[in-house]
Amino acid sequence: MEKRAISYGRQTIEPDDIEAVSRALASGWLTQGPLVEEFERRLAEYTGAKYAVVCSNGTAALHLACKAAGLGPGDKVLTSPLTFLASANAALYVGARPDFVDIDAATLNIDPDRLEEKVKACPSIKAIVPVHFAGSPCDMERIGRIAKERNLIVIEDACHALGASWTAANNETRMVGSCSNSDMTVFSFHPVKSITTGEGGAITTNSRKLYDRLLSLRSHGVIKETAKLFSAEGLPWYYEMQDLGFNYRLTDIQSALGISQLKKLDRFIARRREIASLYTSLLSKYPFIKTPCDVQGRSSAWHLYPVRIDFNGLGAARRVLFELMSAIGINLQVHYIPVHMHPYYRGLGFKPGDFPVAEKFYDEEVSLPIYPLLTDEEAGAVSEALLSTLACASVNPPKACAI
Ligand SMILES: *Cc1c(COP(=O)(O)O)cnc(C)c1O
Repeated sequence: MEKRAISYGRQTIEPDDIEAVSRALASGWLTQGPLVEEFERRLAEYTGAKYAVVCSNGTAALHLACKAAGLGPGDKVLTSPLTFLASANAALYVGARPDFVDIDAATLNIDPDRLEEKVKACPSIKAIVPVHFAGSPCDMERIGRIAKERNLIVIEDACHALGASWTAANNETRMVGSCSNSDMTVFSFHPVKSITTGEGGAITTNSRKLYDRLLSLRSHGVIKETAKLFSAEGLPWYYEMQDLGFNYRLTDIQSALGISQLKKLDRFIARRREIASLYTSLLSKYPFIKTPCDVQGRSSAWHLYPVRIDFNGLGAARRVLFELMSAIGINLQVHYIPVHMHPYYRGLGFKPGDFPVAEKFYDEEVSLPIYPLLTDEEAGAVSEALLSTLACASVNPPKACAI
């Protein structure tokens, strides 16, 4: 068998996943059928939220959440600069203005101290979108308190963090998605995430009102239940569009895959955790590599394994590292180019230097491959290749990894 190239993330599809999808295809339901509702029920049960609404992808989920929360022109939405573009773009979709709060260099999540300061200073802030970077939960209890004081909406971007949890002040375990300190939590089922439906996303919430709005907005803003109609005509074909919605539906075929994958989620996370420990044991002894670790009381879903490398000190170029690693079939990635550095966001007035902690992190970060199918041998080979390649690529090669 040809040796498989190693990338930073990839899906795990097993024979029973394929059978589940085949059964769905044969069932006669292709778009919204019973499996959509079953997937939603199981997601709510897994996360501990009252309701879940699945939709076409994580970006659509963020858009639906912003719209359901009533965000719009004149509202400011705070998120982390260290995230995928969609976390901030969702605010723009509804006409609100995204702004950022720099990360905490230790947790890599939005810095609660800076967040509190900014919230106090700026009355137009209406919502916070905390991002659980790499799958490691934010301090949701603190963020929840900051939001409550000013009556702000909290939408967690948990696209990295399905399967992550934390220990609350009362010692209870909370799953990310339980919305115990937020209004809504958003997930993605893109193939590199914890579980996949091809493309797919979901929102969890404990609010019946938000749940009803999300369901309607997912499907054109149309209402069919007689009790909620503006004019109770009682006509069998009658429905009303009461708000401007979208077609952001997930199919029964995708839900079949989602249900099958959700059953394996804990096993997937356990394997990701093993790989993370292996990398940490192999790499943490080198002073020029900073390895990530679980924050006290928080259990990561290990979506990413982000290391920080002292490229300046080594006199090494990250570009050369990427090229040499790619030549031997190991494709690294960088997470992320801070959102405010992109040309579009510079056009909105942001500039380099605005969020220096995230920018410094970007200068040093490399995401090592991590996904359930990665073997210990492959993870070992990645570590070895990283060390020897860094030695090759350095003007001041570290003694510890001289080849
Ligand atoms: C993947 C991701 C998204 C978007 O999800 P899609 O399903 O790709 O639309 C949003 N935010 C973060 C942090 C992500 O990692």
